Amino acid sequence: MSEENKFGLPNSSPVLPVRLELDDTLKFRCHRGISCWNECCSHADVTITPYDIIRLKKNLGMDSSTFLKEHTVPFELDAHGVPGLKLRTNEEGACLFMNEEGCSIYADRPTTCRYYPSGLLAMKSVTESNDERHFLLVKEEHCKGHNEDKIQTIAQYRKEQAVEEYDDYNDEWYRLILKKKSTGPAIGKPSEMSLQMFFMASYDMDRFRRFVMSDSFIKTYDLNDDEYASLETDDIALMQFGFRLMKQVFFGEMSIKEREGAWEERIKERKEILEYRKQAEIIEHQRKQEEARKASLDSGKKDT
Ligand code: SF4
Ligand code: SF4
Repeated sequence: MSEENKFGLPNSSPVLPVRLELDDTLKFRCHRGISCWNECCSHADVTITPYDIIRLKKNLGMDSSTFLKEHTVPFELDAHGVPGLKLRTNEEGACLFMNEEGCSIYADRPTTCRYYPSGLLAMKSVTESNDERHFLLVKEEHCKGHNEDKIQTIAQYRKEQAVEEYDDYNDEWYRLILKKKSTGPAIGKPSEMSLQMFFMASYDMDRFRRFVMSDSFIKTYDLNDDEYASLETDDIALMQFGFRLMKQVFFGEMSIKEREGAWEERIKERKEILEYRKQAEIIEHQRKQEEARKASLDSGKKDT
């Protein structure tokens, strides 16, 4: 296979060396009575997306920071250290959401789980709002769903799994990762600050919300009251705003109005802070020198 799975969705082997399109057929059925029930979730490798987190944290009734701490493990999406997250498993590799009945959060299961046994092979923007997708097929020894008689097209399977809604919300983020990957080598390793911004806006939305509602953010960006009201209460609006802000910060794609003179003001403030820190360091250095001088004088008096 010449193309690789660019999103890690899902990336388990063995992946069949075929490229599937929406009208290609898939012979597969997963159901409660099948002999391999829960086998896939017993060794789960589930990469998660921003929209997955919105659904999961709501399902579990927790904020994003608690969800990240309790249910995810970090990994790197690329060689430049762009942060990715996977669902945490137990020591045997089983998903923490798996129970006897199957998936305890089924209605809000992540994108990767909805795609299985297909995966996203490649995505190409045809127009700004239209993407061309190609899929791969994962055929694992333990999965007996492929021996069932049900035949449907990839498009029908995606509809049945309600994956289209997930793709609609995640597409902007996939494009951002692809762009960050493709510009990466040209601009070198992203700064620590840009990686932190990516992590917060992509995954830790409740913390990102506090950042967006902070005085320093409001002093920098010119949003109206309705926009702030929706960012304060609507997770989807906040996620989409995060994508825009990242594009603005990383690639200079300006879509959020900055207040006139705000950046100059911030640079001035920053200069003042740096100057203040420098002064504090000089004073501390002088204090230590004075202490050392006194100590040396004291020890000289004792010797005489
Ligand atoms: S989230 Fe649900 S479907 Fe996905 S691996 Fe875990 S138990 Fe399985
Ligand atoms: S058929 Fe495949 S996807 Fe369904 S439970 Fe079995 S291993 Fe999992």
